[in-house]
Amino acid sequence: MKIICIGRNYTAHIEELANERPEHPVVFLKPDTSILIKKQPFFIPDFSSDVHHEVEVLIKIDRIGKHIDKKFAHKYYSEIGLGIDFTARDLQSQLKAKGLPWEKAKAFDGAAVVGNFYSKTKFPDVNDIDFFLQKNKQKVQVGNTSFMLWKIDELIEYVSKYFTLKIGDIIFTGTPAGVGAVQPNDRLLGFLGKEQAFDIKVK
Ligand code: ZN
Repeated sequence: MKIICIGRNYTAHIEELANERPEHPVVFLKPDTSILIKKQPFFIPDFSSDVHHEVEVLIKIDRIGKHIDKKFAHKYYSEIGLGIDFTARDLQSQLKAKGLPWEKAKAFDGAAVVGNFYSKTKFPDVNDIDFFLQKNKQKVQVGNTSFMLWKIDELIEYVSKYFTLKIGDIIFTGTPAGVGAVQPNDRLLGFLGKEQAFDIKVK
């Protein structure tokens, strides 16, 4: 399986990082080895001193497809989840400045938290789902899928122009405002609607 990630999909987050509003979605991949093993803590890697949490809504693809029209995109997923796109921000900034790919900053082992998935029928409107990240009992990132620049079905249309989507692939749909560094002993809880989708300890 592969993980397809979208960058800069929420306006407030773009302003936070002083990025330009892109003409197209920013797309990058994470390998399956980046998935944090269930019930394991997240270990801050020794090559970074500024790893940020990015809480993101996840889409699990359950049908193979290529060149999917957004009108039919809803047929390609039946579950929605929540996760974290951990990012070594210091390393990413260095790589960006040199125009180099970001993989070392975003695709390392453990950098993809894949929390629980829920049937999309649980949500009356997939384009209006609240979610938030709580760090040590404080809400640090709050979002709603209605604030996405590119909505779920548009993302599926866009990424499937480039990549054949296969059963089990996961799309990370981008993070809202409030990204920040994690420290050892932090505890990160993610909520999608009313459901607690993950509970991660940082070491
Ligand atoms: Zn992200």
